[in-house]
Amino acid sequence: MPERFLLLLGLQLAGGALGAWLGGAWGAAAGVALAAWLGLGWESRRALRVLRWLRQDGAPASVPALRGPWGEAADRMQRLLRQQQQQVAAGDARLQEFLAAMQASPNGVVLLDAQGRIEWCNQTAARHLGLDPVRDLLQPIGNLLREPAFHAYCTAGDFSDELLLPGRSSTPTRPVRLSVRLYPYGQGRQLMLSRDVTAIEQAEAMRRDFVANVSHEIRTPLTVLTGFIETLQTLPLDAAERTRYLELMAQQGRRMQHLVQDLLTLSRLEGSPLPGLDEWTPVSVLLRRCQEEGAALSALLTPAGAPPHVLRFPPEAEWDRYGEIAGAAAELQSALSNLVTNAVRYTLPGGRITVSWQPMPAGGARFTVSDTGPGIAPEHLPRLTERFYRVDRSRSRESGGTGLGLAIAKHALQRHGAHLRIRSTLGQGSEFSADFPASRLRGV
Ligand code: ADP
Repeated sequence: MPERFLLLLGLQLAGGALGAWLGGAWGAAAGVALAAWLGLGWESRRALRVLRWLRQDGAPASVPALRGPWGEAADRMQRLLRQQQQQVAAGDARLQEFLAAMQASPNGVVLLDAQGRIEWCNQTAARHLGLDPVRDLLQPIGNLLREPAFHAYCTAGDFSDELLLPGRSSTPTRPVRLSVRLYPYGQGRQLMLSRDVTAIEQAEAMRRDFVANVSHEIRTPLTVLTGFIETLQTLPLDAAERTRYLELMAQQGRRMQHLVQDLLTLSRLEGSPLPGLDEWTPVSVLLRRCQEEGAALSALLTPAGAPPHVLRFPPEAEWDRYGEIAGAAAELQSALSNLVTNAVRYTLPGGRITVSWQPMPAGGARFTVSDTGPGIAPEHLPRLTERFYRVDRSRSRESGGTGLGLAIAKHALQRHGAHLRIRSTLGQGSEFSADFPASRLRGV
């Protein structure tokens, strides 16, 4: 600063001296004035260069190379500008990270301004609510979500609970349920979260159905039992009648026992860890037990004098070649026996039941039970493994069914890497099979 002042003073003195030499006192005055104007013009030019540099759009490239106060001012301004740009860039990066995190959220997120207009929404919310994250920006959410329940929720202003709405992609065959909730924040703004609760709702409905089914299954034999007990208590029955009643009561007791047993098996299957590869059971042991149970049930269900079921198993001499299978023996036995006893139960005596165990060329083996029973209509096939689903209720009950057999079998097989496949033709018979992976077989 002082050097600029001295420079200007020097210029004026030189101008004055030159003026005085050329034209006396007037010349000296004119020389000083001219020198002052020259100095001023020079400074204005430098100031203009700084101004032009500042007027450039975006980040000004290089600072004008100036010395003195204008150069320093330009340097300082450039430093300030850089700092500001860095702050803006850091803020922008943080915002992008934040938005990316909200984008990754499994829940739908919508940011609403104080007028209820969409400021931002993630892809999940767009999918849930049928929004377009770009086109619908600044659109009032009430115009896009036209459910009366949502309108009532917004006007009531009580957001302490979530609201259940049908999802945008909901169809009668595939209903989608959403849980939506508003969270006020800032100055009148709202955060709207949406969650797909279809699976939770379905599980809840299944739980309710299950409890209702179990209660129903237990209530029926209980009603029969209490009826018989009252009869025994009030009527003077002879010994033969008493014996008959007691036998009927025992039947109902057994039915309840089977049901409770099956329920316990199901809950064990659901609650226990997957069977490992450390317990090995010879396939022949499983087949023998299937054969014994099938034959015993057939004898029980065949009326005196009628021909029993024809039970066909592979020749016993081959059984040892089937090797061993890894997993929980009790679970495997229950699944395989169930398929065999079902075939016996649903096929009329005299009908044929064929059981096979076929090692497969690519490794693994297929267990198959086919029968010449009534067959199952195609519409029932996908639902057969649901708990308590029966095609013919009375036939299932008469033959001691609980409606849980195939659900247990499917679950137990799945736990051993096998998939239960059902094929059937109405009026011709059914075929139930399970493919076991090579990893669970040895000694084949
Ligand atoms: P249930 O105890 O009633 O037999 P399951 O779960 O074992 O229950 O079977 C479900 C339903 O599948 C049965 O009620 C029956 O209608 C049908 N089903 C099962 N196996 C056969 C079969 N071999 N032939 C015809 N229908 C069958």
